[in-house]
Amino acid sequence: MSTKKNFEIAIIGGGIAGLTLAIALHHRNVPVKIYEQAPKFGEIGAGVSFSPNAVWAMKLCHQGIYDAFERICTRNAWPSKQKVWFDYLNGYDKTLKEAGHQEAAFTITSSIGQNGVHRARFLEELVKLLPGDVAEFGKRLSTITEAESGRLVMHFEDGSTAEADAIIGSDGIKSQVRKVMFGENHPCAHPSYTHKYAYRGLVPMEQAVKAIGEERARNSCMHMGPGGHVLTFPVNHGEILNIVAFKTNEDDWPDYQRLTRPAKREDALKDFEGYGPNVIALLKLTKPDLDCWAIFDLGDNPLPRFNKGRICIVGDASHATSPHHGAGAGFCIEDSLVMAELLADDRVQSPADVEAAFTAFDVNRRERTQWLVQSSRFQGDSYEWRAPGLGDDFQKIEGEINSRNGIVGNFDVEQGCKDAVQELAKIMRQSNL
Ligand SMILES: Cc1cc2nc3c(=O)[nH]c(=O)nc-3n(C[C@H](O)[C@H](O)[C@H](O)COP(=O)(O)OP(=O)(O)OC[C@H]3O[C@@H](n4cnc5c(N)ncnc54)[C@H](O)[C@@H]3O)c2cc1C
Repeated sequence: MSTKKNFEIAIIGGGIAGLTLAIALHHRNVPVKIYEQAPKFGEIGAGVSFSPNAVWAMKLCHQGIYDAFERICTRNAWPSKQKVWFDYLNGYDKTLKEAGHQEAAFTITSSIGQNGVHRARFLEELVKLLPGDVAEFGKRLSTITEAESGRLVMHFEDGSTAEADAIIGSDGIKSQVRKVMFGENHPCAHPSYTHKYAYRGLVPMEQAVKAIGEERARNSCMHMGPGGHVLTFPVNHGEILNIVAFKTNEDDWPDYQRLTRPAKREDALKDFEGYGPNVIALLKLTKPDLDCWAIFDLGDNPLPRFNKGRICIVGDASHATSPHHGAGAGFCIEDSLVMAELLADDRVQSPADVEAAFTAFDVNRRERTQWLVQSSRFQGDSYEWRAPGLGDDFQKIEGEINSRNGIVGNFDVEQGCKDAVQELAKIMRQSNL
């Protein structure tokens, strides 16, 4: 491990990106502090699943992250489905007369199959890997200035300030750090609505089994259809079924400030009118009051770069994506690993070196992460028979998913870090650092 650095990194935001980054830095002897707007760490929503690249990145960030994931993750129940990511079903099948077993149209596999963790549980486990005094809560960043000493000053909405040598924003899709970097009026300051929204529900597994049968309830499924799709996977060690029902339409999202709105089960049933009996049976199991999530991303106005001086952004703040690859959080963990390896590098000693590390991060991470945002849009459309050139041709859809998922999941995470460190060496040589 490298010797303790004599610069201090501030992280704005303690979600999956901020926490995994803080853990990776802390355990590499890089002094770090998290400033989180909420009164404590927490996550909303239910399940989040990870692809092989993400799990590899967890291990390399810090073994404790991987161990936590293994302790709490839920896989498909059936031994024969351990490598299945999703069984894809025709959710619009008119020949199916009643809910129950349905044959898959095709199956997408990966080396680790489907694995879901409960978001809040995962965060609880991550927090245990950090010293108690690493975070300050109730600190909502408003702006950043530079002190005469050259250190950066964070200004929080409660009127307080704090200093650090460099700042990393992991403050999510509506990132304030991004606004500080590019200005409120830059197009990338504001994410765009993808015209998809999602109803999310958690239902007791027993009820799901009764409604659609063992195989489809206890193992991950993607129910495809025109303009909508419903995915399900088991969470809480198989006791609960996580249901996410996506719908596409041309309307604008009613309130740009809020990413969720309250909805009723009846709204979901109306949106999926005409779908097959399994989709309807699943929606009927959800609670009468549901949350409806708008799917925003940074796809229309990608960031020109991820760093500016000694400020850099990671995770959703820099490349928020729609969730159709199931890879947004995984890419946050890749970011954390690359950033930690760069900052822990022995060559990085002064704040000027940190600036070079941020530039190397930008060069290394921008293309892959911005590809994900575009690919995820395409993939979501393919589930809904809207993707250009694919329509409802299942063979073509399967082929596209396999090749795109390969780019996500088969990524050589270790080589990615080596490339980033090489880039850093090049930048430092060029700047005579
Ligand atoms: C429906 C849905 C399903 C998904 N499913 C998956 C999946 O299966 N697999 C996967 O890999 N990804 C998935 N994702 C994507 C994944 O959830 C995100 O990529 C990931 O959670 C982003 O983490 P983050 O830490 O960058 O941001 P966030 O989780 O948004 O965390 C940001 C943190 O910053 C704090 N903050 C914000 N502003 C400020 C401020 N001004 N000052 C201080 N603190 C601030 C917030 O309170 C929060 O704690 C899904 C997303 C959605 C919407």
